[in-house]
Amino acid sequence: MKVAKDTVVRFHYKLTDEAGAELQNSFNSEPLSALIGASNIIPGVEAALMGLEVGDTADIDVPPAEGYGERNPGLMQRVPKKYFKTGAPLAPGMTVMVQTEQGQRPVTIIKVGMSVVDIDANHPLAGKTLSFHLQVEEVRAATAEEIKHGHAHGPGGHQHADD
Ligand code: ZN
Repeated sequence: MKVAKDTVVRFHYKLTDEAGAELQNSFNSEPLSALIGASNIIPGVEAALMGLEVGDTADIDVPPAEGYGERNPGLMQRVPKKYFKTGAPLAPGMTVMVQTEQGQRPVTIIKVGMSVVDIDANHPLAGKTLSFHLQVEEVRAATAEEIKHGHAHGPGGHQHADD
């Protein structure tokens, strides 16, 4: 079976940046599961997986527009320190979760002042060209429930607490 819309693909991936530094690697843990056609994964990776079968590999470079988008300078903000309820002291370079109008999201600490903190809410991989090595482990038809939910179920996919 080939990867296509409304299939669930389990795949391993290794992600490196433009300098060749490894950022993420699933090969020493569990493969990722994704429902194709439901924006579960970045567009560049989804496009590269299309038409592949079990055992196939692909090596691709994904520009920001097909990845995590360009960096948005408007997402660099100065916020009161009291909004941060972390146990550890804040330090530049840390990633912390903060509550926003869009829900919880990770932000990177840029600078810590006496009462304010400069943060960057861009995705850490925004603005980067990403190199992926992909390997397809399993391809199957999605269930009606997965298509309705918009995500893959089972190992490497969405685990529901209530079903
Ligand atoms: Zn579900």
